[in-house]
Amino acid sequence: MKSKPANTVNILGLTYTVERVPYILRDEYRIGQLDPEKQEIKILDSLSEELAAQTLLHEVIHGILKQLKFFDEDNDEKLVQGLALGMYDCLKDEPSVIFNLTHKRRKSMNKKQTSPQVASKASKILSNDHAGKNTKSVAGSALSQTRASGKSKK
Ligand SMILES: [Zn+2]
Repeated sequence: MKSKPANTVNILGLTYTVERVPYILRDEYRIGQLDPEKQEIKILDSLSEELAAQTLLHEVIHGILKQLKFFDEDNDEKLVQGLALGMYDCLKDEPSVIFNLTHKRRKSMNKKQTSPQVASKASKILSNDHAGKNTKSVAGSALSQTRASGKSKK
């Protein structure tokens, strides 16, 4: 049994582990960090759920910018934080509205909503018989829509 619950988020075809940790760096106060090599996001444990959610979005945006090689933008903390807070504000009250809209739109658009690169990566995983069930389900959700949380445990 794992000592800490681990969640994952998909960032443009990469699966990142999200973990709440008691501290991130010993010598520096940080509330979140994304490690692109380990595909890991750490969020400070002591943050409120609201701040933790904003911080997770902040780190996810870093991940997206890195993956797209927007390195100048990735170093622009004001831009990253602005996008994170904007997304948080937009999603916090009724995230299902956005997903419902994309769901309806997807039906009429014949499943063409993900970027071609991500879709092709995900499709390769889905068509690979050696890929595990979890990998396939991750790829499947990359093909449809990324959800940071809220998976039903039922
Ligand atoms: Zn940052």
